[in-house]
Amino acid sequence: MVGGPARELEAVLDAAVEPVIACDGDERILHMNTATERLLGWNREQLVGKPVSELFPPRLHRFHGLSLPRYLLSRRKVLGGRPTRVFSRRRDGVELMVELTVGTSGEGEKERIVLTMRRLHEVIDTLEEPVERVPGGPDILPHHEETADRLYRILVENAPLGVFHFDLAPIITACNELFARQLGTSKRNIVGLNLLTLRDERLMACVRESLGGRTCDFEGDYRSLTSGKLIPVRVRFAPCYGEDGEVEGGVGMVEDITARRHVEAEREAHLAQLDLLFRSAPVGIGFVGTDLRYVRVNETLARINGVPAEAHPGHTPLELFGPHAGPAVQELLQQVLKTGEPLVRRESTTDGDLGLEGPRRYMSGSIYPVHTPDGRVLGLGVLVEDITETKRAEEERAHLYREAQEAIRVRDDFLSIASHELKTPLTPLSLRLATLERRLERGEHVDLGVLRHARHQLTRLTGLINDLLDASRIEAGRLALHPEETRFDVLVEHTLTSLEGQRGNHVFDFEPPPEPVSVQGDAYRLEQVVLNLLENALKYSPDGGTIRVRLSVNEDVTVLSVKDPGIGIPEDQQQQLFDRYFRARNASTRSYGGLGLGLYISRDIVERHGGRIWVESESGQGSTFYVALPTLSASRLSLPRAQGDRHLH
Ligand code: ADP
Repeated sequence: MVGGPARELEAVLDAAVEPVIACDGDERILHMNTATERLLGWNREQLVGKPVSELFPPRLHRFHGLSLPRYLLSRRKVLGGRPTRVFSRRRDGVELMVELTVGTSGEGEKERIVLTMRRLHEVIDTLEEPVERVPGGPDILPHHEETADRLYRILVENAPLGVFHFDLAPIITACNELFARQLGTSKRNIVGLNLLTLRDERLMACVRESLGGRTCDFEGDYRSLTSGKLIPVRVRFAPCYGEDGEVEGGVGMVEDITARRHVEAEREAHLAQLDLLFRSAPVGIGFVGTDLRYVRVNETLARINGVPAEAHPGHTPLELFGPHAGPAVQELLQQVLKTGEPLVRRESTTDGDLGLEGPRRYMSGSIYPVHTPDGRVLGLGVLVEDITETKRAEEERAHLYREAQEAIRVRDDFLSIASHELKTPLTPLSLRLATLERRLERGEHVDLGVLRHARHQLTRLTGLINDLLDASRIEAGRLALHPEETRFDVLVEHTLTSLEGQRGNHVFDFEPPPEPVSVQGDAYRLEQVVLNLLENALKYSPDGGTIRVRLSVNEDVTVLSVKDPGIGIPEDQQQQLFDRYFRARNASTRSYGGLGLGLYISRDIVERHGGRIWVESESGQGSTFYVALPTLSASRLSLPRAQGDRHLH
C-alpha cells in the first residue's frame, strides 16, 4: 500500500475515531490507524508486517484450529454484524477489553482482512470474563497469573489513595474505585478520559513531567464531575516504564486533602487568633533566642522599648538600647538563661534603672525560660507591663490614706483639746457660782471680783463656742460680712482698750497714725481679727513685755502690725499657722489653751475683705503678725464691694 490510493486510504483510516487494522490474507498487518496506535501503545512502524495476533493475548490466538480473525469471520453469519467482546493486548501487556468486528474483501493475494475495535471504557478486570466468551478459549487463567493479578488488584483497590494509570496519549487506562469516588463518577466514565480535556495547565505540566521520566506533585482543587463540588487534592505523578526501559505512561496517586486542608485552616485560624492576641496585648510580649537576640516582639513592647517592632529581630538589647538600659536588660536575660530561674515581676523605673529619657514610668518585667516539650531551652519569654498608672493610683491611695489618717488624728486631738478647753472655764465658774450662792444664802457681802471672774469665764466659754460656730460657718461658706465704711484706727484703739483688764504685766504700745484711717469692712469681724492677734500676743508672751501695735497707711494699703516679745513660731510651722485646728508645736495645750481656730477665722475674714494676713517670727524671738487691708480710697476704686473674693497677695 504505497501509491496514491493507499495514502488516501491511510488518511481515511487515520481520521476514524475507532481503531482500525488492515491485514493481508495471511493476517499480516498492512496498516493500523492512529486510534489503534493510541489505544494499544504501538507505533505502526513497529507492527507493519507483523501478524495481527500480536495485538491479542496468546490464549486468544487460536480457536478450533482457526486464528481469531478467521474464527470470527467464520461466525459472521451467526453474529449478523454484532461485535464480539474480546481482550486485546497493549504493548505493555495490559489487556483491554474491546468490541471487535472483523470483515474481509477480495480473494487470494488480494484478500484484505479489516479489524475494527471499539474500546470499552471500563477498567480491565482479568478476573471477570467478557460478556460473550470466545468459545473454546481457555476458561481460566493459569493459576500463578490469577494469583498475581488478584494480589495487584487487592493492592490497588485497597490503597488509601486514588490510583490511576495513563498512557502517552495521555489517556487514563485504568484506575481504582477510590479514584472514581474522589472524582465523583464511575470507572466507566474515567477510563478512556484524555487528561488533556481537563484543561488544567498545572496538571498537564505534571503529566508532561512524569512522561518525561520525573515525578511531580500537583496540589489544587478538582471540581467533581457529578456534584460540581471543589475537592482539594494532592496528586503525585510518576513515570511508568515498559520492559524496554522506555517511559510508556504514568501513574497518579491522588490524596483527598479536604481533611488536611480543614486542619490547616483551623491551625491557621488559631495562629491568626494567637497572632492578634500577641499583637494587640496591652502587655509587652517578646521572645528572645538563646543567643540573646530578639526573635519577635509585639507593638506594646516595641513602644516600651522605644524601638520599632520590626527593628528587634536578630538584635541583642545591647545593640538596640542605650548604654544604660542595654547592658542592664542583657544582664537580666543572661542571668535567667544561665540559672534557668525565672525572674518574676521585677519592677524598675525608666529614668532610674533603665536610664531612659522622658517622664518617669514604672515597669514590671518578667523573664522566663521557654522549653520545648522534650525539655530543651528554646529561648526566653519576656513580659513587660507599664504599671505607671497602677503605681500612681497606689501612691495616690497611700497619700489619701495618710491624709485621712492625719484628718482623723487632727479631729481626735481637736476633740480632746476642745473638751479640755470647754471644761477649763466651767470648773471655776461653777465653784464661783456656788460661793456666791452660799454667801447670798447667809446674807453675807458679795465680792464683785468673784462676779467679775465668773463673767470672765463665761466670756471665755462664749468665745470658744463662737469660734467653733464661725469655723463651721466658714467651712460651709456661710460666714456673713456686712461691710461699711469703718475707721480702722479707732477700731484698733477700741480693741486695745477692751483688753485693759486682761493685760496683766504687759504693756501695749500703740501709736495712732496722724491721719484717720478708713477701710470698707465689717467692723465686728475686723475687731474679731484684731482682738485675736492681741490676745495671742498676750497669751504667747508669758513673761510679759511690750506689745507694739502699729498702723502704717498709704494710698492703697493699710497695714496693721502686732509685735510681741513671746515664744515665737518655729519656721517650718509658719506656713500652716492659718490652717484649721493648727497649733504650733511649741504651744503645748497644757501651757497655752486654744483651739487653733483664731488665725484660721482671721485669715478668712481678712481675705474676704480683699486683704492679706501673714507672720514674721523666729522661734523664741517673738512674732509680728501683719494684716493688710485696702485703704478706703483705693478700695473704692478697685474693690467697690469688700465682700468680693479677690485677695490681696
Ligand atoms: P489658738 O487658739 O491655739 O491660739 P490661733 O489660731 O489663734 O489658735 O493660733 C494658732 C497657733 O499659732 C497657736 O496655737 C500658736 O501655736 C501659734 N501662735 C499664734 N499667735 C502666736 C504668737 N503671737 N506667738 C507665738 N505663737 C503664736
